[in-house]
Amino acid sequence: MSQTNQPDPYSRPPARFCADGQIEVRASALGRCRRALWYAACAQPISNPTDPESLTLLEAGNALEPVVLRALQRAGWRLRPVERERPTAVSVPAGSGLRVSGHPDATGRPPRSSEAESIDQFLFGPGQPLDDEHELVIEVKTRGPEAFKRWQTLGAERSHPESVAQAACYSLGLYGECRDVVIATLDTGSRRWATERIPAARVEHAGRRATDRLAPLVGRYETCGPDPEALPDRDFTASDWQCRRCPYLNACQPGAASEASPTVDSEPLEPVSEEQARTALRGYEQVQQQLKPLNAEKRQALSTLERWLQAKGVNKASLEGGEKSRTIGIVATRRYAVDHRRLNALLDPETRAEIVTEHRSQYLRIS
Ligand code: SF4
Repeated sequence: MSQTNQPDPYSRPPARFCADGQIEVRASALGRCRRALWYAACAQPISNPTDPESLTLLEAGNALEPVVLRALQRAGWRLRPVERERPTAVSVPAGSGLRVSGHPDATGRPPRSSEAESIDQFLFGPGQPLDDEHELVIEVKTRGPEAFKRWQTLGAERSHPESVAQAACYSLGLYGECRDVVIATLDTGSRRWATERIPAARVEHAGRRATDRLAPLVGRYETCGPDPEALPDRDFTASDWQCRRCPYLNACQPGAASEASPTVDSEPLEPVSEEQARTALRGYEQVQQQLKPLNAEKRQALSTLERWLQAKGVNKASLEGGEKSRTIGIVATRRYAVDHRRLNALLDPETRAEIVTEHRSQYLRIS
């Protein structure tokens, strides 16, 4: 383990072959495709530069990170935020021939009297001192609303395991051990933020799994040297988001950029012209307009019937309708909520995957 300060720290490639014969991988790139890391380490030219919109999104996310740290401080967290001009650099050995380097966003401690601490005490036992020796790495992320919700439900180890592995390396680099880490995430849609604390044993597991995955790159480097032709297998296919955002997509899969489509597999459909789409949209708007007063009338009728039942003191009664007798009844439903934050803290991601499963569906929204 070593801690150093170096100028211009954020301009490094995701991976590089170092003069001492090691491969150095940036902590924030731990989850990336191994072939893409090889391209980067061989300093291959970028075939698909990041488009301006994605760059703006990326920069907006980075610019919001200090906002998250200030929000944590206002909520009582005691932080040691890094100086963005001169952040502390950590470099951690990760097995033979491999090291991981990066710059932690912040370190600190949860507030002493807050919901965060009461949850910590519930989960990790009361009375655990939170002095300097128990300072934690805080990894700050910004996510869109969907990704934020997915993180809260599944936990970082399942939704964004690379961020936990990244924090594991920072903890090792700063403290020489894997401690608990905190992932602090801002929802860029609602501007809400939340934290997740991950126990040390699981942090260590995430870090080890990420670095084990990169071990074959070391063997390849020892056998082939920095040979841009000795490419590792692809970790993803052209339809995966990793490939669609990959700066080496055309080099790796020529022609795939135009073929890659984010939509689900489906039968080829008759093409729809702009004019047909506009006509369909206007038809939809007309129907919506017609439904508005009908929906209001329906709500009014239901409210009258509910009050009629309440006046009778019953939950169900029959009433003659226009064509037949109807049964009017109040249906009570019960909902059960899962506190995903506590569930995520208590169970390892493999066990959680058996309990909280993910299903995808899609629908069309017109707003
Ligand atoms: S295009 Fe896909 S498979 Fe090829 S290097 Fe990039 S991420 Fe890996």
